[in-house]
Parts: sequence; C-alpha cells; structure tokens
Amino acid sequence: MEKIMPNRLDRGFYQHQKELEDKAIEVLRSGWYILGNELKEFEKEFASYIGSKYCVGLASGLDALWIAFRALGISEGDEVIVQGNTYIASVMGITLNGATPVFVEPDEYFNIDAGKIEEKITDKTKAVLVVHLYGQASNMKPIVDLCKKYDLKLVEDCAQSHGATYDGKTTGTFGDIGCFSFYPSKNLGAFGDGGAIVTDDEKLAEFIRIFRNYGSQKRYYNMLVGANSRLDEMQAGLLRVKLKYLDDMTKEKRDFSERYLNELKNEKIELPRIREKATHIWHQFVIKTPYRDELMNYLDEKNIGTIIHYPIPPHLSEAYSYLNMKPGDLPITEEYANSVLSIPLYNGMTKEEQDYVIDAINAF
Ligand SMILES: *Cc1c(COP(=O)(O)O)cnc(C)c1O
Repeated sequence: MEKIMPNRLDRGFYQHQKELEDKAIEVLRSGWYILGNELKEFEKEFASYIGSKYCVGLASGLDALWIAFRALGISEGDEVIVQGNTYIASVMGITLNGATPVFVEPDEYFNIDAGKIEEKITDKTKAVLVVHLYGQASNMKPIVDLCKKYDLKLVEDCAQSHGATYDGKTTGTFGDIGCFSFYPSKNLGAFGDGGAIVTDDEKLAEFIRIFRNYGSQKRYYNMLVGANSRLDEMQAGLLRVKLKYLDDMTKEKRDFSERYLNELKNEKIELPRIREKATHIWHQFVIKTPYRDELMNYLDEKNIGTIIHYPIPPHLSEAYSYLNMKPGDLPITEEYANSVLSIPLYNGMTKEEQDYVIDAINAF
C-alpha cells in the first residue's frame, strides 16, 4: 500500500471533479476575475449556511482575523484574551493591530477553558478571541455571558469549525464577528488561499468590505488606508461548488471519526472527547499520549504519516519572544504541545486505509 498521508487534498477534489472543472472553465472564460458575481453569490450562500446576515470574502483566514480586530477598533494598549494552544495565526490577528494577547489555558476538549477567562480580565481587556480548535465548538454559554458582563467584544476563529454548532447555534454567530479560512486543508477548502468574515452588524460588514479593497467603495475614491484582501472569483466559484457538499463531506469525516472512537483501543492513548451540547466537524482527529514521539516514529515506519497541531505554542515561538514568556508559564498548553498527534483523516479515505491505521495504533 502507498504511504497513508495525514491528509489527501486530491481525494477531495476527485469526489467532485467534474463540477469543479466545469466551474473553473466557466470562471476562466468569464473574463472577470476579482470582485464579481461568483464572490457576491458565495457571500450570500455562505452567510446563509452559517446563519449570519453578512459575509465578506477575504484573501485568507489571517486577514479575516487581522481585519476583524481592526474593524472593532482594537489597537495598541488593548488586550485580547485567547487560548494558549492555538495556531499562531489567531495570535497574529491580534498583534498585527498592535494589541497584546493574554493567554488562557485550554480545557480537556482543547478549547479555551471558560472558567479561567475572568481572572485574566483587566482594565485593558477589549475582546475575547475564541478558537473552535480541531473542529469542535467551544463552551460558548459562559463565554458569551462573560463578554456581556464586562462589555467585551467577542470574535470567533472558525478556521477549523465550518458548520460546527454549540447548543444548536452555528460557530461564527455567537459574537461580533466570525472569522473563517478556506486554506485548502480546511473542512471547506479552496484551491489556493481564501478567507471570510461573517457578522450581523451592517456597519462592520460595510467597513470590512471597504477595507479589503484599498479602503475604497468607489473606484479611485479612497476613504481610508486599507488592504488588498479579496477572495478572487476562481476561489469563490470553486468554494460555491464545495459548499453544496459541505454537509456530506462533514458527515463522511464524522463517520470515519466515529470508527476511530469505537475501534481505537490502546491504553497508552487518549481519544478526543466530545463536549455536551457541542458538535464536532472533525477538522482533525487529535489523540493524546505521553509516548507521542515514539508513536509518531512507529507509525512513520509503518508508512502512516501524522502531524502535530501544534508543536510550539505561540507564547514560546520566536515571533513572540518580545512577550517575554518562558516554558512553564502555560503548563497545560505546553503539555498538549508535547503530547498531541493528528492521525490520518480526510474525505475519500478508504476503508482499507482506515483499517490499517486502526490496526497499527492498536498494536503500538
Ligand atoms: C488556518 C488557520 C488560520 C489561518 O488561516 P489562513 O487562511 O491560513 O491564513 C487561523 N486560525 C486557525 C485556528 C487556523 O487553523
């Protein structure tokens, strides 16, 4: 058998090859490649899928985060609370605006520990950034209550949680702005970079629409210094095709994950847990083990690829050395960085591939 990779983007493409190729040719032949009808339609369809009033397509998930905080007026001197164990882009979205990240430890579901937020709130705290990590919705009820109590903005990083829900409500709709990435490996992935924000606030949507296009609404009339951050017509068109199948793709990943949950049996390994009232869209299937590096090498020898999400937590990354944090400052975050492992999971995975992974892990 060929090597089993942690992810296989080609398989997802071949599941909808004809429609995707037809759409690509349609866009190529249209003669219109930026800020056109595909984007307009995708924004309508994605807003409706999430259950938000507005969607604004952007060039990446990082831009969505950066521009979200910009739109909320968060800047130098402000603090934003975020979980320690996230992808570094979450933190960059805060610091690109000059604001300071304040880290909170994760709970046993890999999301921010809602019970540890309040102790981190200061006079400078302006917002909470919730990351629905690995595809599972965070513990939203207490977080929404805290943001109301302290009058804090709430931003959601939904780069890994397209369609995941908490108490029946879709992630991205709990706060002021929901930020999405359509990086190819995400559950709703483009064929290049892409991102979006969703919001119910017309003024925020309007600001972001202007900001993404050099601060202009009318050509050559620039109201503010903005960015060039637009979801292009090709990506928007291809995302429209994939959005129609997103629920099917999620169901397939959920079925594979249920098999892992039922059939992986090894005392050395802790399986992911599902929070009450939350749904999981299984962006990643993340196990935990104190023998992580041995397991990773063992699986590699058996031709099974795995990935660590993420080996260096942002507070210990060189990029954030200026925050002067050190090992031991976030012990749970750091323990996760040393013990998590994402095992192969992707649309189009075969039963034989999954059997092979299950048998190998059970024999470890
Ligand atoms: C992928 C990701 C991002 C960044 O998205 P890009 O489109 O790659 O810029 C931000 N936050 C999280 C949690 C992510 O997984």
